[in-house]
Amino acid sequence: MQNASMEEQWLSSHFSGGNQTYLDEMYEAYLLDPNSVPEQWRTVFDKLPNLNDEITTDTPHQPVRDHFLLMGKTNKIAADTLAPSLVTEHERKQVRVHQLATAFRFRGHQNANLDPLNLSQRKSVPDLELKYHGLTDADSDSVFQCGNLYFGKKEATLQEIHDAMSTTYCSSIGAEFTHIVNTSERRWIEQRMESVRSKPDYSIDARLHILERLAAAEGMEKYLGSKYPGTKRFGLEGAESLIPLMDELIQRSGSYGTKEIVIGMAHRGRLNMLVNILGKNPTNLFEEFEGKSFLSVGSGDVKYHQGFSSNVMTSGGELHLALAFNPSHLEIAAPVVEGSVRARQDRRRDHSREQVIPVNIHGDASFAGQGVVMETFQMSQTRAYGTGGTIHIVINNQVGFTTSRQEDCRSTEYCTDIAKMVQAPIFHVNGDDPEAVVFVTQLAVDYRQQFKRDVVIDLICYRRRGHNEADEPAMTQPMMYQVIRSHKTTFELYAAAMISKGIATVEGVKRVSDDYRNALANGEHVAKALVKEPNSELFVDWTPYLNQPVVDDFDSSYDLKALQALALEINTVPEGFPVQRQVNKILEDRVKMAMGALPINWGFAEMLAYATVLKQDLPVRITGQDVGRGTFVHRHAVWHNQKDGSTYVPLANLSVDQPRFQIYDSFLSEEAVLAFEYGYSTTMPSALVVWEAQFGDFANGAQVVIDQFITSGEHKWGRLCGLTMLLPHGYEGQGPEHSSARLERYLQLCAEQNIQVCMPTTPAQVFHMLRRQAVRNLRKPLIVMTPKSLLRHKDAVSTLEELSQGRFETVIGDQDAAVLTEKVDRVVLCSGKVYYDLVDKRRKESAFNVAIIRIEQLYPFPEERLSEILAPYSNVNDVVWCQEEPMNQGAWYSSQHHMRRILHRQSEKLYLRYAGREASASPAAGYMSLHLEQLEKFLNDAILNIQ
Ligand code: AMP
Repeated sequence: MQNASMEEQWLSSHFSGGNQTYLDEMYEAYLLDPNSVPEQWRTVFDKLPNLNDEITTDTPHQPVRDHFLLMGKTNKIAADTLAPSLVTEHERKQVRVHQLATAFRFRGHQNANLDPLNLSQRKSVPDLELKYHGLTDADSDSVFQCGNLYFGKKEATLQEIHDAMSTTYCSSIGAEFTHIVNTSERRWIEQRMESVRSKPDYSIDARLHILERLAAAEGMEKYLGSKYPGTKRFGLEGAESLIPLMDELIQRSGSYGTKEIVIGMAHRGRLNMLVNILGKNPTNLFEEFEGKSFLSVGSGDVKYHQGFSSNVMTSGGELHLALAFNPSHLEIAAPVVEGSVRARQDRRRDHSREQVIPVNIHGDASFAGQGVVMETFQMSQTRAYGTGGTIHIVINNQVGFTTSRQEDCRSTEYCTDIAKMVQAPIFHVNGDDPEAVVFVTQLAVDYRQQFKRDVVIDLICYRRRGHNEADEPAMTQPMMYQVIRSHKTTFELYAAAMISKGIATVEGVKRVSDDYRNALANGEHVAKALVKEPNSELFVDWTPYLNQPVVDDFDSSYDLKALQALALEINTVPEGFPVQRQVNKILEDRVKMAMGALPINWGFAEMLAYATVLKQDLPVRITGQDVGRGTFVHRHAVWHNQKDGSTYVPLANLSVDQPRFQIYDSFLSEEAVLAFEYGYSTTMPSALVVWEAQFGDFANGAQVVIDQFITSGEHKWGRLCGLTMLLPHGYEGQGPEHSSARLERYLQLCAEQNIQVCMPTTPAQVFHMLRRQAVRNLRKPLIVMTPKSLLRHKDAVSTLEELSQGRFETVIGDQDAAVLTEKVDRVVLCSGKVYYDLVDKRRKESAFNVAIIRIEQLYPFPEERLSEILAPYSNVNDVVWCQEEPMNQGAWYSSQHHMRRILHRQSEKLYLRYAGREASASPAAGYMSLHLEQLEKFLNDAILNIQ
């Protein structure tokens, strides 16, 4: 060995191969504290050049390794530093001790005591045993350097080190964090856990408080169980630790100055949360159980889907809590919560995202199974959807309804593995150890506070009863329920532990339970921190938007001069900002449009609508795939510097007091992002919130959001929503995809004035429609069938005056001077782009006996307006509904009764007939020739066919 090259020495030394981890750790320990490593190491590390200007624990290690290698090769490293003399047996063991300790950080969670039922066996993990690392019991008393272990000791015996690591990582907490690449974050978690062996010594008061919260959690379920036996409540029993967890989460966040927390959760444990955490009056809940309480409007919803809001007091001041309403679809509330949080952060201009925190509570089966969870994680650090980190809590009761075999539930080891994709730390914790639960809660809150990233608490517990209280779980989980039946409750276990430690007495425990039960029986609030007279400044005042009449007429005019000035302002390219050639041409054209030299097209009218809304001090937020440019290249709301790639957003640079324009290209999701925007718009009533589908038919990837929230949320929960959905589409012979935005789906969902469905056909119409949506106080979702080809159609243009004056017209009568009212014997009613085909056909055929009327708003159907427009045509004997969609699609089935009603009023002889494509399973033909043939046929049918 003496004569071997330094490289050989290096390779055979303990610095190489598997020992690189050791080297890494030594080096990291040195970076944190040079004195924490043995002197020889310090000498070596001291000699390393500064690889970065500022060395931190994030300094990449590969260059350090390379540097060592180089030092070895070039003899720059002192022979006695690397010489075999240094590699004593003790040093070799020192390395192994470090490997053992590292193994606990990596794999300790597999051996931790996480399952209160003890059904899932703790894995035997060879890496956690001495012999795996070439150590034996005989080494137990040998003293080793603690290096970067956070025991507050420089040296300890192997036994002490092993015990400490085992207690830290294999007790009631299983921490998964070694997948995090950021060293500071990993170190932070190690330090927090190891320094207290994952078992902080809580004060007596803190423990008694936990006991009281557990008594509340259990007491609530027992009370409901005895008062309303057999009634579904989706009780929390088995997961009672959620209540001390949430209590700690809220109090700790509040102590850091958090002002609002928005919580999303499914049905399990919701009633318990409502009463014990949010402070819902128990009397109100009992009334709901007894069927005495109703929402003043709409259909209402079952009690375990209801949201709630309250203010609680914390050491940092008053804090607003909002529990989101949610449908039965598990996990879909999570992105809604994120959107709501982002809106609140925007409202507060909370740039550090510390004043408002999202908390999403999940179930284990749905967390592993529902794709929207992945989408929500994917949003977490994006520009458009980031909220500064979400605290996720999984109520892991180890069964989804009746399914509990791991090989049926998932392919991942844990139900939480999806969270690793964003490198979130995951704290699995045994729900029967409430102090451990409180500890991981503190870690989660502090981690989110420190790093602004997502974090997961996997609360491993069980479900004492069936899926609901009327369900018999032993039918499908006999073994699990055998154990559960004889398993003591978390409260009983913790009370016994407190009594045995002398912290509580038998009488004291009984008193806590009795007090809680009496308070419930008296209908008293049982959330102690509840603020009885909440500070309303903590949340938005919705009063101006409540009970607004649904009337179509709204004056959305805008002063012509101001509009013109605005038109020029939003087309001014900053000095030295080269835009792309075609974009430049578009901007030049827009300047001409502003000057009246060119008619205004769709894209510009839309931009002007946003500009005027912003000028009126209303925020605008637009998201969706490719919205910056527009899927069909019409918007150009974001300009790209052709020299350096930087961007410029003219609407964000308007000369307004507080420009609040956001536009973001979304990541490729429909479901989570639409849910997010729903959450945003139901929280920020002043904003015009627009989501655009890349292609309108892609919105069906978000059908659950449309069905469960957008079209029914107001009716079920009284939650108003002003979200606008733009759905580009068009029948242009391009095949079944993207021809249809599935108008029929939306129309089928229309009832009780729940949404607005519009098909504007001119730039002025889109301008007024968007302005109307923002400026009037009516908050109703707006679904817009937006066009592809009309973006550039020579006739689909408007004048600046048409934008400036007037309003959104729900129906547009025939505007062709060649059509004389008294000569009209046929009226064609239509909606959308087919209007231009019909006009073309009429011109070609000189069929001026036909009047063409456009219905620009299909819901609420403008019956009165259509009636007024039809009235002058007294010689009509044929009325046609013409649509480009197949008969079973489009507006025909959903809207004909409105039209028939009006026609019938006009003349009993009038009958509405159909001209359009035959019913079809597919929305459109796959061949251009067939498309054109069909078009020709139904245009003939509409314009020429004699009845
Ligand atoms: P939150 O901040 O979500 O707790 O809301 C505070 C209060 O504002 C609620 O209790 C409701 O009275 C009202 N509110 C919140 N969102 C809406 C909405 N989308 N529609 C109507 N009222 C709302």
